[in-house]
Amino acid sequence: MKTLQKLIDESSRIVFFGGAGVSTESGIPDFRSEDGLYRQKYTVSPETMLSHDWFFSHTEDFFRFYRDKLLSLWAQPNAAHKKLAELEQRGKLLAIVTQNIDGLHQKAGSKRVFELHGTVHKNTCLRCGRRYSAEQLAATKGVPRCDCGGLIKPDVVLYGEPLDGDTVEGAIRTIEKADLLIVAGTSLTVYPAAGFVSYFRGSHLVLINRDPTPLDSQCDLVLHGRVGEILSEIRV
Ligand code: NAD
Repeated sequence: MKTLQKLIDESSRIVFFGGAGVSTESGIPDFRSEDGLYRQKYTVSPETMLSHDWFFSHTEDFFRFYRDKLLSLWAQPNAAHKKLAELEQRGKLLAIVTQNIDGLHQKAGSKRVFELHGTVHKNTCLRCGRRYSAEQLAATKGVPRCDCGGLIKPDVVLYGEPLDGDTVEGAIRTIEKADLLIVAGTSLTVYPAAGFVSYFRGSHLVLINRDPTPLDSQCDLVLHGRVGEILSEIRV
């Protein structure tokens, strides 16, 4: 913890790269932990249910799973989200690059957030392009339809879909500028997102994760623990 505090004190261009583990302390399950969605029993795998093909071929099933497991509008930012927002306000953190779609960083007050996999907070009619909020989508039943009759799709990147080009470019440019990169709450197994860490050219790479990851051996500092608990101890 002393080393982490020192690195944060000495850095002025921190970038945080996070995944589903950042939101587990807010009550949203991740995918690959012991109590994650991938260990729960489904007849079809979550990867299939969250794929582009499944969205169009089994739209009703998709929305049942999506509302049940991913929408999570009840969730509140935890200590990790709050500390990162504080670091940005103090001018020490350049941006957050996240694989999460829950919008909790913005809810905590963070302004510069690159959401590699999109967000549940934006939804678009595939026919007329009208935008809907997450609350509007949550208020619908079954398959959400626009007034024009078109299908409403959440602006989340499903398996089999490409990442948004501008978001990718912004995330890479920011990571390249960082002097300290903190990677946390991610198994680093979902590509291309996990590969973004390789754009880091700065001085110190820190990993905070409950379980070991493929990146552990390349880091200057590895803390195996809960990211909210760990970041809450940092003085800004
Ligand atoms: P993952 O489920 O593959 O891995 C999560 C990692 O976080 C695990 O290694 C686990 O050990 C660690 N972890 C769990 N709780 C933690 C905590 N409190 N502190 C520190 N570490 C913790 O997640 P991933 O690598 O992000 O990949 C899953 C994909 O699914 C991503 O695209 C992700 O965005 C998406 N997803 C998003 C949400 C969300 O928006 N909240 C939830 C589930 C999945």
